[in-house]
Amino acid sequence: MSAPAFLVDEMLGRLARYLRFVGCDVVYARGEDDAALVRQARDARRVLVTRDRALAARLPGSLLLESAELGAQWRAVRRTWPSVPTDVAFRRCSVCNGVLSRPAAAPPEAEASGVPERVRAGGEPLYRCETCGKLYWDGSHTARIRETIAAWEARGPP
Ligand SMILES: [Zn+2]
Repeated sequence: MSAPAFLVDEMLGRLARYLRFVGCDVVYARGEDDAALVRQARDARRVLVTRDRALAARLPGSLLLESAELGAQWRAVRRTWPSVPTDVAFRRCSVCNGVLSRPAAAPPEAEASGVPERVRAGGEPLYRCETCGKLYWDGSHTARIRETIAAWEARGPP
């Protein structure tokens, strides 16, 4: 079974970003009341992930996260859905959840955005968010994300 699409409430912004890094489709809801969140999750068939017990109780199938700690939250998600990937996937924008695609050539803003020469020259893949235009490539930032996730995974079940 593939990983579900998620709707993550506003207390869980960092978790939303990590789930996007590994390729999950994650809507991060801010400033909406509980009824709107429940309706949005239900209509879009998204799994609601929240730290709010009362909110989770309103929608069957929601995931209630007990911990405020990011690594523990990650492990709770992975325990529930082992199909959630653990490697950086370059499928979703971590900022806006837009779909990433590979442009035919590096866009003009690539150099100013810090894209390394080897990537701009086409030696390694470059990805661009179709919604907000943010650029992604495999580098020190993604190495840190992989290390962080590996450390969470190595802790094993709580
Ligand atoms: Zn984006």
